[in-house]
Amino acid sequence: MSHNLFSQIQSQITDLDAPFMRTAEGRAINYGELFALSGRYANVLRNKGVVIGDRVAAQVEKSPEAIVLYLACLRVGAAFLPLNTAYTPAELEYFIGDAAPHIFICDPAKYAELSPLCEKLGVASLITLGAKQDGTLPELAMQVADTYSTAAVEASDLAAMLYTSGTTGRSKGAMLTHSNLSSNARTLVEYWQFSKEDVLLHALPIFHTHGLFVATNVILFAGASMIFLPKFSVEAIRKELPNATTLMGVPTFYTRLVKEPWLNRENTNHIRLFISGSAPLLAETHRQWTSRTGHHILERYGMTETNMITSNPYDGERVPGSVGFPLPGVSVRITNLETGEVLPANEVGMIEVKGPNVFKGYWRMPDKTRAEFRDDGYFITGDLGIVDDRNYVSIVGRNKDLVITGGYNVYPKEIETEIDGLEGVTESAVIGLPHADFGEAVTAVVVLEAGASVTEDMVLQALDCRLAKYKLPKRVVFDSDLPRNTMGKVLRADLRNKYGNLYK
Ligand code: AMP
Repeated sequence: MSHNLFSQIQSQITDLDAPFMRTAEGRAINYGELFALSGRYANVLRNKGVVIGDRVAAQVEKSPEAIVLYLACLRVGAAFLPLNTAYTPAELEYFIGDAAPHIFICDPAKYAELSPLCEKLGVASLITLGAKQDGTLPELAMQVADTYSTAAVEASDLAAMLYTSGTTGRSKGAMLTHSNLSSNARTLVEYWQFSKEDVLLHALPIFHTHGLFVATNVILFAGASMIFLPKFSVEAIRKELPNATTLMGVPTFYTRLVKEPWLNRENTNHIRLFISGSAPLLAETHRQWTSRTGHHILERYGMTETNMITSNPYDGERVPGSVGFPLPGVSVRITNLETGEVLPANEVGMIEVKGPNVFKGYWRMPDKTRAEFRDDGYFITGDLGIVDDRNYVSIVGRNKDLVITGGYNVYPKEIETEIDGLEGVTESAVIGLPHADFGEAVTAVVVLEAGASVTEDMVLQALDCRLAKYKLPKRVVFDSDLPRNTMGKVLRADLRNKYGNLYK
């Protein structure tokens, strides 16, 4: 069997007329067309001098052609490097300089601005791709053949490179191999019971592991299809939900949808599976969703470097606030933060993971790579978690978000769960802020429901009998919402900056 991810996908598809994708505007693409188009794009890349092992960087809007481009890179044996569409030219300079791609593909509207940058950084060619089949790449593709002999690669060759969000220091290029991606996609198809009959409502960005690998690779490996929305909107979901069988979302999708009066059992009856990941799903949202629709959202956990690590079960109990079991073939352990010693069940520590899903290392950062792996091959995720007696994993937060106050460790999630449970509270984020006495002071930023009149004293009194004294927030501040990135992650660094002077 070929190791090339594309060849593996292709060999699974027996019916080339089967639908692969439909856009919101009604454009339909079947598997035969997808493969033929990927052949054309692969020929364009090869004609531009792309060879096995090159990086192909792209900052393009979400479109069917962007997926075709990803497949074309696989066929050529190049690593696909998608970049967040929000990055400015100044930010792109770092990524292009670091990754040294042979070719850069950008939106036609950005060509003039990015052309001098690519020249300065030695990128051999710059071509364009817009969201409406426009740009030089689709034009060139019509002038070449639609057949391409897919490159033979090693299982350990790079299929893609994704930059981490870089919340601690510089963003790092995670090197993902053909076998990292194929093993995870196969595991997820089976674990979540995807079949040809499935229609996924796809409203995620495709420059991130969630929308590109979890969603798209699962559909490709199952021979299923998707409704491809340019982005999430409550209205678009409402319109397309009747045509779908599954939805994959970040928690924000669910917190927004659950507020909609139209959401009920009748109009979600036909849905097989709602999946959430990329950021913590509030247990409260999980419960509200169940009471409104009868469905238990399946929460899973993963990261750019590791693909998916754990998932709640398809058939068993989906526990609110837990990310479920290690996936088949994936080993998870919890270790002591200082000593690295493996901890027993029910103790909080560092989540470490090992398996075919775990990436090859950080691009051109051998020291950083060495520092994040144990000698026995486990990757240190940076997430703190706990495994219970039944083997359910729960995430307590990122290691760097741990608050150390007067020498005591405080895990934000524990305090947030208590606050979120209070009447009138929508959500909260607990952060550590510089404090002369304590080093860091536990501080809660709370978002209230419209019209609620909760005060700082009320929050503190409610927590007083439920938490040890050292865990109690020194201050509770109220804000209109929590800053989040596109994947729904709370930007705690922004909150630390905003409230940094609270105790000065
Ligand atoms: P990224 O590399 O952007 O996918 O971010 C990975 C990080 O997102 C993980 O290390 C976790 O901190 C967080 N994450 C992903 N899924 C979940 C989840 N279900 N619950 C809590 N945090 C999550």
